[in-house]
Amino acid sequence: MRAVVYRGPNDVEVTDVPDATVQDPTDVLVKITTTNICGSDLHMYEGRTSVEEGKVLGHENMGVVVEVGPAVSRVKVGDRVSVPFNIACGTCRNCLHGWTSFCLRTNPIEGMVGAAYGYANMGPYDGGQAEYLRVPFGDVNLLTLPEGTEHENDFTMLSDIFPTGWHGTELAGVVPGDDVAVFGAGPVGLMAAHSALIKGAARVFVVDQQADRLRLAESIGAIGVDFSAGDPVEQIMDATRGRGTDRGVEAVGYQAHDPSGEEHPELVLDNLVSVVRATGGIGVVGVYMPQDPGARTEAAQQGRIGFDYGTFFTKGQSMGTGQAPVMRYNRQLRDLIVAGRATPGFIVSHELPLDDAAEGYARFDRREDGWTKVLLRPEA
Ligand code: NAD
Ligand code: ZN
Ligand code: ZN
Repeated sequence: MRAVVYRGPNDVEVTDVPDATVQDPTDVLVKITTTNICGSDLHMYEGRTSVEEGKVLGHENMGVVVEVGPAVSRVKVGDRVSVPFNIACGTCRNCLHGWTSFCLRTNPIEGMVGAAYGYANMGPYDGGQAEYLRVPFGDVNLLTLPEGTEHENDFTMLSDIFPTGWHGTELAGVVPGDDVAVFGAGPVGLMAAHSALIKGAARVFVVDQQADRLRLAESIGAIGVDFSAGDPVEQIMDATRGRGTDRGVEAVGYQAHDPSGEEHPELVLDNLVSVVRATGGIGVVGVYMPQDPGARTEAAQQGRIGFDYGTFFTKGQSMGTGQAPVMRYNRQLRDLIVAGRATPGFIVSHELPLDDAAEGYARFDRREDGWTKVLLRPEA
C-alpha cells in the first residue's frame, strides 16, 4: 500500500510499504478516506524527536471498516468511522476513568503512558497517512459516523484537534459568559476558540501573528490579537479594562516564539499567567516535551520550562495539561456537527492526494500564507 514514511529531518516520502493487516483478534482494519497533517507531526518532521526512519506517519484518521478481527462485535465491515489519535485498551485504570490518552497498557515503551498512531515514543503503531490502518481494540476505540460522505471535512477533525481544542477549554474551566484568551491560532487554537464560543463564552481573544490565521479566528466571531503589533497581554488588558480574562488556553507549545521568531518556551505560559484573572483557569494543550534536542536553551532541551510560577501561585490560578482523551468528547462533538452547531471544517485550507504529502508537509511546516490545515486523500 502507499504510505507517508519519515526519512529524516524535513524529509517524508510517499512510498510502498507492506499492507496493514488484522494482527490481533480485537483489531479492525480501516480503509482511509481522509487523513490530516497535524502541527504535532511537524515536531517529528523538523527532526526534534527520536522517531525512527521508516515510520509511517499520521494520527488524524478516518475511513471505512474493511475487516474486523474475530473478537470484534460492535464495529461492522462497512461502518464509516473516526479513529481517535489515542490508542486505548479501554480497561486499565486510566481508561476506566476516561483518561484514554494515558492508557497504561498500549504503550510498551518503558516510562511512557498513552499510545498513538505514527508517532515518536507513542508505541510501535504505524500511522494512517496511508491507504489502510490497523486499529487495535477496535470496539473500544472507533467512533461510528453517519454513512455517506457528508461532513467529511468536519468529521475528520474528530480524531484529534477538535477534541483537543475542546479539552483545552475543559481544562481551563470555560463556562457561559467567560472571557477567554487563546494563545495560538493554529488548527488547535482555532478549535479551542470554536469550542469556547459553542460553550457560550462572552469574548474569545485569539493571539497569533499570522494574519491569515487571525482572519479565520475573526470569521467565527473571535477577536484577533496580533502579538507582532504589541504586547498581547497589554492588548487584552486594555480590551478588558484591566480585569484580564477568566480563562486561558495554551495552543502553541514549546516552540513559542517572539515577534522576531526567536524561541522562548516559557513565553506563552508567562503571558497566560499575566492575562488570566486571579483564581482563573489555564488549559495547556500545546505540547511541552521532556526532551527537545531542538530547543534553544539547555534547560528547555531537558524539558525544564521556567515560567512565572510565583505569580501563578499568588494568583491562585489552576492549570491542566496533557494530551486530550479524545473519546471523552468525540461522540458529543460528532452530534454537534450533525446538528449543524459545530463546523470545525472551516479551518481546512488544502485537500491533496496522498501522493502530494511531501509538498503538504513542507508548505505547512513553513506556515505559508493560507496553509492552515492540510487533508490527504489516498483515493484522490
Ligand atoms: P501550529 O504550529 O500550526 O500552531 C501554533 C501557532 O502558534 C502558530 O500559528 C504560531 O504562529 C503561533 N505562535 C507562536 N508563538 C506564539 C506566541 N508567542 N503567542 C501566540 N501564538 C504564537 O500547531 P497546531 O497544530 O495548532 O498545534 C499547536 C500545539 O498543540 C502543538 O504543540 C501541537 O503539538 C499541540 N497538540 C496537542 C495535542 C494534545 O492532545 N494536547 C493534540 C494536537 C496538537
Ligand atoms: Zn494531531
Ligand atoms: Zn487503557
